[in-house]
Amino acid sequence: MKWSELLLPTLKETPAEAEAISHILMIRAGLIRKLTSGVYSYLPLGFRVLKKVEDIIRQEMNDKGAQEVLLPAIQPAELWMRSGRFEALGEDMITFTDRHKKLNVLGPTHEEVITSLVKNEVSSYRQLPLIIYQIQTKFRDEARPRFGVMRSREFIMKDAYSFDRDWEGLDKSYQKMYDAYCRIFNRCGLKFLPVEADTGMMGGDTSHEFMVLAENGEDRIARCKKCNYAASMTKAECVLPDIPLRAQASGQILDSREIEKMKTPGVSSVRDVAEFLKVTSEKLIKTILYEKDGKPVAILVRGDHDVNETKLTHVLKTNQLVMADEKMIKNITKGPMGFSGPVGLKGVEIIADLSLKQGENWIIGANEADTHFKNVNIGRDFEVLHWADVRNITESDTCPKCNESIEISSAIEAGHVFKLGTKYTDSLEADILDEKGKSSRIIMGCYGIGVTRIVAACIEQNYDDHGIIWPIEICPFQAVVMPLNPDHDASIAEAQKIYNQLQDAGIEVLFDDRNVRAGIKFKDADLIGFPIQIIIGEKSLAQNLIEMKVRNTDDRSKIKSGEVLNAVLQNIKNLYKNNK
Ligand SMILES: [Zn+2]
Repeated sequence: MKWSELLLPTLKETPAEAEAISHILMIRAGLIRKLTSGVYSYLPLGFRVLKKVEDIIRQEMNDKGAQEVLLPAIQPAELWMRSGRFEALGEDMITFTDRHKKLNVLGPTHEEVITSLVKNEVSSYRQLPLIIYQIQTKFRDEARPRFGVMRSREFIMKDAYSFDRDWEGLDKSYQKMYDAYCRIFNRCGLKFLPVEADTGMMGGDTSHEFMVLAENGEDRIARCKKCNYAASMTKAECVLPDIPLRAQASGQILDSREIEKMKTPGVSSVRDVAEFLKVTSEKLIKTILYEKDGKPVAILVRGDHDVNETKLTHVLKTNQLVMADEKMIKNITKGPMGFSGPVGLKGVEIIADLSLKQGENWIIGANEADTHFKNVNIGRDFEVLHWADVRNITESDTCPKCNESIEISSAIEAGHVFKLGTKYTDSLEADILDEKGKSSRIIMGCYGIGVTRIVAACIEQNYDDHGIIWPIEICPFQAVVMPLNPDHDASIAEAQKIYNQLQDAGIEVLFDDRNVRAGIKFKDADLIGFPIQIIIGEKSLAQNLIEMKVRNTDDRSKIKSGEVLNAVLQNIKNLYKNNK
């Protein structure tokens, strides 16, 4: 392919709307262009990368015996109402009413569609196990589309579904997909970590997320510095430190002091109150009010901790949890926002985080403007209805498995696997008959990979000041041939010769035949990140020498013109080897 004939608009400047490095580089390297918020076009180079990622996924899925299908993007809303997820997805769902006044959904995922298909087509245990997958565009009306294709409203996903007659079967299917995912992410050149995850709106019990470690990642993962424990922030379990439980846990307060009201004028945030009172934030209790199914609940966590809403929805067994606004707070506590506390609160369920079992004589909001209580003790000054782990893990916590210290890192969720069980086969009544003609529910698993997100995640892990450094398996072209002086006939002839040789050998090569300065060619080649650059300069050519640069190591060598093909083949081989 000749560069002059390719739609490849590179940019020198950083686009104003882009924050994440992958977003910036995808635009600058001419891979994507934005149409509207969270919606992108893939240009030829971006499309080539996307297709390569898809091919890797296809190969690995097919290798595990999964069968490819293509399910519809348009789905009747009624199907989603039957599974109960129409409500659960809420405004994330893109819907439309057709000309027959029927409500439809643009598929954000396909559990409902595939389960209804399998229910109709599979009736005997002999037809199982079955793993079906597709690579397709999904739609989610993200509240805040961000980071280019990383969090967009239209994106490409590979979704797979397994169907088994029993739980042992599901375990096997799950393991197959887990293994396939590890191979896929490795081949895409990603440093990743499978972590224990919350099952969220998908339902089911066991789940792992495949996290790509990246500074700009929106997700947080907690991992042990010693053992192999790793979990997403929403899931990571907080354990109490191994010191004797004091006070409330044993029913007695060791150092009981009189509860006392004190003025905290103009300070309400934990940090400000702690500073004002010259104590550490661990001495404070934060009271966060929510409305659960129309009823108020108060969540208490230590001042230096944050509420984990995912854990909270499990504890409260609800999907309908709304944080109280100023007006609601006033209604519940009779006090202003920023000074809420559990003492004297009537008709409100109080849930306390387990860490509050250790400590006494707390500082808490008094439900009055500019006022806090000090020396508050749980059980004496107010009652807790329910104790639970409802906070995010921190680096001061310890590993729930081995008690060593925990490290928190940013990451991008690139894949997610779930053991769904019978959540969807129950709601759609998908059964099979066994050997004895007895009917039983089909057991399901589901497995997703964000294809477009892999491309972005890959750039987040593989770039430098000059641009992208593609892993060899998903680069748009393996090599670029650059004659530096477009007016020098011998350079052009040599470039054409090398280009033909590489092309004939099956190497994906781009011929930079543009009539532009050498500096622009160098900059663009680094920006786009071709793994191998073949540079044809006048002076070297006079000595029958060609320069070769390997992008990821910046290794430069001069080779004889006749040896370019072999050198390129050898380098590609090495890059593949190092990718494994
Ligand atoms: Zn550990």
